[in-house]
Amino acid sequence: MFLMSASEKSNGINAYVTGIGSSKRFVMWDTTMDRMPDDEIMFIFGHESGHYVLNHIPKGLVMTMAGSLLMFWICAHLAEWMVRRFGERWQVTGVGSRAGFLALVFALSLGGFLSTPISNTISRQVEHEADVYGQEAMHGLVPDPQKTAVSAFNHMGEAWLEDPNPNAFVEFWFSSHPSVQQRAVFAQHYDPWANGGHGKFFMK
Ligand SMILES: [Zn+2]
Repeated sequence: MFLMSASEKSNGINAYVTGIGSSKRFVMWDTTMDRMPDDEIMFIFGHESGHYVLNHIPKGLVMTMAGSLLMFWICAHLAEWMVRRFGERWQVTGVGSRAGFLALVFALSLGGFLSTPISNTISRQVEHEADVYGQEAMHGLVPDPQKTAVSAFNHMGEAWLEDPNPNAFVEFWFSSHPSVQQRAVFAQHYDPWANGGHGKFFMK
């Protein structure tokens, strides 16, 4: 576990889990420690623990590798098609030529833009799973997990100057996390312990 002196460079509130093998680590920003109440720090730690326990990093790496393979294959064909279709006008003789490399880069940048909502939709799903894990992890440790989670999302939204009501399409295309509003609304209503039930990841 590391405490990072983020306050030297940022006003944001954050924490993250990253690395594989011996480089696996949890990193908490000092801004979070200094400005968030203890209960909310526990929720943030719970969320990051979710990424750790549910193996989101290795799963993400495997998905990125598989996705890259597919993306490179598609873009290679796209570049070849572009050169066949526009090569004469662009004065590009083939993808293998020096100018053809630019056609390949162009195809990759198009592919990257068009695949953004796919990777972000997966990312938002993973973040949601970590939110559920975090809220369940602090159940029994804080008086009111719903209230703590909602307050934490409000604090984060304020710190990052997030749009409280983002355009749904912009969020679909560009956001790696669900909006703080959506996360807060979910947290407010997530109460699997009502009527003696239990959560998805913890049995009590
Ligand atoms: Zn996360």
